[in-house]
Amino acid sequence: MPETGAGQPLLQVRQLSKHFRQPVAGGWWRRWRTVHAVTDVSFDLWPGEVLGLVGESGSGKSTLARLLVRALTPSSGELWLNGEEISRLQGRALARLRPLLQLVFQDPASSLNPKLRVGELVAEPLLVGRRWPRAQAWAQAANLLVQVGLRADDVYRYPHSLSGGQRQRVAFARALAADPLLVVADEPLTALDVPLQLQMLQLLRDLQQRRGWTWVLISHQLAVVRWLAGRIGVMYQGRLVELAPATALQAQPLHPYTQRLWAAELPWPATRDRAATAAAPPDAVTRPTSVAGPLLPSRRLSAQGHFTGPAPAAAGVSVGPDTATKGCAYAPLCPWAQSECWREPPVWRAVRPGHYVACHASG
Ligand code: SF4
Repeated sequence: MPETGAGQPLLQVRQLSKHFRQPVAGGWWRRWRTVHAVTDVSFDLWPGEVLGLVGESGSGKSTLARLLVRALTPSSGELWLNGEEISRLQGRALARLRPLLQLVFQDPASSLNPKLRVGELVAEPLLVGRRWPRAQAWAQAANLLVQVGLRADDVYRYPHSLSGGQRQRVAFARALAADPLLVVADEPLTALDVPLQLQMLQLLRDLQQRRGWTWVLISHQLAVVRWLAGRIGVMYQGRLVELAPATALQAQPLHPYTQRLWAAELPWPATRDRAATAAAPPDAVTRPTSVAGPLLPSRRLSAQGHFTGPAPAAAGVSVGPDTATKGCAYAPLCPWAQSECWREPPVWRAVRPGHYVACHASG
């Protein structure tokens, strides 16, 4: 999958999928259904790059984050790190990878052991495998706390005595201590208030520039992702539907779902005046002039997000219970839906260098 970037990619993701089985009825006759959390995701990530991932809740971003750091084993597909296949590593081989792939959670309180002092939490990656003597690791932890804007004597504090922003800084200091190849940050700013978000954004940019980290940054705040990421991927129902350089995706989003995301974006940081302006419904999506097929005339989505007109069946499209899964998952909401959208899933393809989209009508 050729993309932008020079040399060997740090991470190669190939048709990565994760399915979960969930019970749908209780008792011994319990029935199960399969939830397709992530399906056929492919992209490359180069050293020092920041890739943003956006999408609504439930779009599979967090599951993908856990797959990338091998906190989950993929159901199918491949994951390559520096030319080594890591998708199915287990035991010691996987433990060796752990420090190199760091995940920073949305709520640091849930990922920091409340019984350990901050110094022990930050020094923990240094002490794994007795890489550092204890006293030296403790001193390095104090040094790292200063690098993320805390005080050196915060090593003696417990997580419960820190504010949300301080706990998030501790989480980043802990990631720094591991000297990782890849950091995946899953909504790292969501639990913070706006002034703290601004401070953390500055910190993230500093860390990226000073340490040359490779990042995958997951957020539903498009402005945050645009500010930090060189490329942005858009996820919908477990699939990557568009991937492009941030400037190209902002200037000319091709997928109708990306357009709706952009149109519905709230200003950030939110102020009362800006929030009032944003209360107006988003503009209708723009259909590219290159779209060849006819639209389903009776299936329109208003700017407010409501359907108008009868269902697709009235337009000559046979819609069964599994129609949406056979074709494009966005078809029930898409204002450009054509008959083939209900039958064939769109192919992931490059429409211009570095710009990928999965849509029959875009390109
Ligand atoms: S493939 Fe069809 S239904 Fe899916 S986003 Fe594109 S135009 Fe819409």
